[in-house]
Amino acid sequence: STFALEMKEMDKKPFSVEAIRADFPILQTEVYGKPLVYFDNGATSQKPQVVIDAIEQYYSKENANIHRGVHYLSQKGTDAYEKARKTIQTYINAAHEHEIIFTKGTTDGINLVASCFGELIHEGDEIIISAIEHHSNIVPWQMLCERKKAVLKVIPVLESGELDQEAYRALLNEKTKLVSCTHISNSLGTINPVKEMIQQAHAVGAKFLVDGAQSIQHLSIDVQDLDCDFFAFSSHKVFGPTGAGALYGKEDILNAIPPYQGGGDMIAKVTFEKTTYNELPFKFEAGTPHIIGGIATGIALEYLSSLDLEGLQAYEHELLTYAEEQLKVIEGLRFIGTAKEKASVCSFFIDGLHPFDVGTLLDKQGIAVRTGHHCTQPIMDFYKIPGTIRASFAFYNTKVEIDQFIKALKRSVDMLR
Ligand code: PLP
Repeated sequence: STFALEMKEMDKKPFSVEAIRADFPILQTEVYGKPLVYFDNGATSQKPQVVIDAIEQYYSKENANIHRGVHYLSQKGTDAYEKARKTIQTYINAAHEHEIIFTKGTTDGINLVASCFGELIHEGDEIIISAIEHHSNIVPWQMLCERKKAVLKVIPVLESGELDQEAYRALLNEKTKLVSCTHISNSLGTINPVKEMIQQAHAVGAKFLVDGAQSIQHLSIDVQDLDCDFFAFSSHKVFGPTGAGALYGKEDILNAIPPYQGGGDMIAKVTFEKTTYNELPFKFEAGTPHIIGGIATGIALEYLSSLDLEGLQAYEHELLTYAEEQLKVIEGLRFIGTAKEKASVCSFFIDGLHPFDVGTLLDKQGIAVRTGHHCTQPIMDFYKIPGTIRASFAFYNTKVEIDQFIKALKRSVDMLR
């Protein structure tokens, strides 16, 4: 009940970064004899001990295939896997457990929708994406549009890195069948107003997919409140393992579209004449899945749920403001992405310096950042730069680490100038 949830919230200890850091063993690592400062959380997040332990425990004591066996370990594995599905459902507030499809990650989820929902797309139909999408939310739609002779439209971006909402509204029409848009831009940090965008898409009868790869680890997600039709995320960006993730889809849509891949588990009955498909969610889960990947996704989300999420989000914002204040003083530094609503991502370019050179020198000083186009080439072309230097923060990062980063950055710039 809501009351029980509120009581649980009150039990949570206020957010403390010192306590949190102890949960992530890799944060004690050194690189080149220097303490690791890990600011590449946008690419992948680090794993808390509970997730590492679950993986170890599974392979050393519990490994078995699921959904088929009558024996003890198979049933135990099945229970754990299905419990994880329930955890994901609760975490994103889906109405039903069977609306959660286990996937390999965001890319896999988007491709599932492009393939299966794509079967309902016909010549002349329109699909809308945005100018700030990750390649994994561009290419599957290009492939679909080519296959179905449909038309791909792109919401333009403003200089700030915000989407041009007026242009978006103008693109929507009765031919629009689907809008697929990122919740948070991985290269700019822009938080898109997806809730309003979804309402507007629905007003013309279009469905909406939210790419949640960068939002599930920073925002509280409520798919029913957003009213999105699909929501895709990767476990590895939300403190779980690689090769795992989930796709949320509304029940009626998942029932209306054909399955993704054929194979074991997704069938009800197979004969050479005809095969009937299994019910949701199994219809979309052919073959032996990444069992511990799914289980550990649940553990990672349970871990997150045990934290003071509001405190955590405020802290991440504090890190962003602190870093931006300090970066401002570096000569020739230009922020790429200055949206009003931003996640804890600092993307920037320094005049005359190639991001790769800066990144390489930072690495030698123990600072892990990402440089390049971040799988968002079109947005780099828009800003007419080869790429950016991106520091993306998680709640286990600290202001002391930001100080170390700024010091190392100043040294790198001096060396290159
Ligand atoms: N979408 C966004 C916004 C991303 O940042 C990423 C990964 O960086 C993806 C999609 C693809 O995620 P994955 O490679 O985990 O499938």
